[in-house]
Amino acid sequence: MDFLEFQIHKLQQAGAALVSPASIFALPQLAVALAIAFAYLAYRQMRRRSTVRLPTILRAMMSRRIIFNRSTYADLFYYFINTFAIGSLIGWGIFSGLAVSELGVRMLRASFGVCAPSTAPEWALRTGMTLVTFFGYELAYYIDHYLKHKIPFLWEFHKTHHSAEVLTPLTVFRVHPIDSLIFVDIIAIITGTLHGLFTYAAGKSVGIYSVGDVNIITCVFLFFLAQLQHSQFWIPLTGLPGRILLSPAHHQIHHSVDPAHHGCNLGSFLAIWDWAFGTLRIPQKEPPRLTFGIGQANANPHRISALLIDPVMNALRVLGLIRRPTPQVSRIAMETLRPMPHEGR
Ligand SMILES: [Zn+2]
Ligand SMILES: [Zn+2]
Repeated sequence: MDFLEFQIHKLQQAGAALVSPASIFALPQLAVALAIAFAYLAYRQMRRRSTVRLPTILRAMMSRRIIFNRSTYADLFYYFINTFAIGSLIGWGIFSGLAVSELGVRMLRASFGVCAPSTAPEWALRTGMTLVTFFGYELAYYIDHYLKHKIPFLWEFHKTHHSAEVLTPLTVFRVHPIDSLIFVDIIAIITGTLHGLFTYAAGKSVGIYSVGDVNIITCVFLFFLAQLQHSQFWIPLTGLPGRILLSPAHHQIHHSVDPAHHGCNLGSFLAIWDWAFGTLRIPQKEPPRLTFGIGQANANPHRISALLIDPVMNALRVLGLIRRPTPQVSRIAMETLRPMPHEGR
C-alpha cells in the first residue's frame, strides 16, 4: 500500500468512525451530548429562576472562549495526528489481548488440566464474559491511569493530556503516542488475563455482546457519557450515583490544576475503583472555580514541540539519561525575569 492509498484508507476509516456507535468521538454521540447538556442547563435555570432563557443556554453551549482557544486548536491537531499520521492505536500494542488470553489458557491447562465444557446456557456465558471484560477494562484503565499519575517518568507523557486548558470532546485525543502505547499494552495484559481465566473455567471459547469489536456496555457509556466528560458543562453526580459513575464534573476535577485534585477520579466510566482505592472525589452540586492545565511551568503548552518532543526529553531527564538544562540556559531564563527599565515605576 503506497502513501496515498494509506491516507485514503485512513480517511475512509476516519469517516466511518465519525458515524460509528462504538466510536470515542462521533457525530451521533456529539448530538446526544449536546442534547443532554442543553436539558441539564435548562433544568438548572428553571430551578434557579423558574424560567428558561434560550439565548443564555446557547451562549453557554457555544462559548467562543472555548471554541477559539489555542488549547482547542491543539486538541484538533492531536485528533488529526492520531487519526491520520500515527494509525490505529490498538495496532501499535506489543501485547494483544487475545494472545495474552490464549497463553493464559494454555498455561492453566498445562498446570491444572482441562476443564469440561460448561453446560450453562450460551446467553449466560456471553453475559458473564461481557461483564468480566467490561469490569476488567475499567480496572485496567484505573491501574494505567494511577501509574501515570504516580510514576514521574510516565507522568511526563500523561502531562500532554493534562496540558489542555479548556475541555472539549476532542481533548480525548490529546494523548502522547507513548502514553497510548503503554495504555493499550496494560489494557491487553489485564483484560487478556481475565478473558483467559473465564475461557479456561468455561472449558470453551465464549464471545461477548458487542457492537463491532467494542463491548456493548462500553458502547452505552461511549454514547451517553464519553463526550461530556471532556466538556465545560458542570454536570455532577453526587451521593451513591457519584460513587458508582464518573460524571463530567468528576473528570473536570481530575483536570484541575489544584494540587489537592492531582491523581483523583482516575477511572474511565466507573467510580467504583476510585471509591475502593481511596482516590474518589465526589463533586459538589454547584460549579466551583476550577483552572485546567499544568500550571505556569510551561508558558505555552500547546506548541507542537511541547506536545510531542518535550515529554520525551523530560522523561529522559527523569531517568537521568540526559542532563538538566545547562546553567547557561538557566541564566538566559533569569535574564528574562529581570525587570525591564520601564517596569516598576
Ligand atoms: Zn490523568
Ligand atoms: Zn481527561
